[in-house]
Amino acid sequence: MIQIHRYPGVTEWRFTSLGSRLAGYAARAFLTDDGVLIDTGIPACGAALEPMLDASVVRGAIITHHHEDHAGNVERLARRGVPLWIAPDTLPRLTSVKRIGAYRRVTWRSMPRLQSAVMPFDTGDMRMLPSPGHCADHHVVWHAPSRTLFSGDLFLGVAVRIAHHREDPWAMMDSLERMADLEPARMFCAHRGLVPEPAGALRAKAAWIRRTIGELQRQIAAGRSDGAIMRAVLGGESLAGWASAGDYSRRNFVRLVRERQALRPA
Ligand SMILES: [Zn+2]
Repeated sequence: MIQIHRYPGVTEWRFTSLGSRLAGYAARAFLTDDGVLIDTGIPACGAALEPMLDASVVRGAIITHHHEDHAGNVERLARRGVPLWIAPDTLPRLTSVKRIGAYRRVTWRSMPRLQSAVMPFDTGDMRMLPSPGHCADHHVVWHAPSRTLFSGDLFLGVAVRIAHHREDPWAMMDSLERMADLEPARMFCAHRGLVPEPAGALRAKAAWIRRTIGELQRQIAAGRSDGAIMRAVLGGESLAGWASAGDYSRRNFVRLVRERQALRPA
């Protein structure tokens, strides 16, 4: 299902599947009045996307990162000849798609790999800014004339206690602070939609991560186990953690901090 919501200058396409609705998730793509599509929606909505594309002027699409809820229909767009901006780090992860966990297949479905030719895209006023943390190839899209930030998966919420096992909370803090310094007037999050007071929200998230890492580090230094720390600091495992068999979990957050701690010289 794709639902449409209009904002001044921007149309939100909100994608859900039966699985994602049961899990309480939606993924968004955004189409500017200038014809720039940011992200491509979920693979489960591929067929429903076709009439939307037929009825819209899309002069090109920008992919924020390789995850299937963002790049899920990239092959569909390439096949239609829509020009694409894809970061060099992202491209190989779209042309050869890794198998994803069952919870992601149920929520979003697996994405077809990109095999059609990629037409280059002149993105005009849009700037793609590296913003690693959520994943290494993550980019946000910044439109300076309207001070609008399309934040992909950089934000998601202030106190997000679950993590993928390859996230980098330190890089995320840096990315959040750099994007807050742009002082965006508007921010569109791929999962939350329009976020009020974006600069404050980005700084609040960076501060929450810094505080939480500090607390996790203290608990690790005190010799406590991952499970005990997760319960004490993060309130125990989340439903997503159980449903994803630990792939997207609070325990991962503890583990990421412990691994980083172990790399430090004594
Ligand atoms: Zn993502």
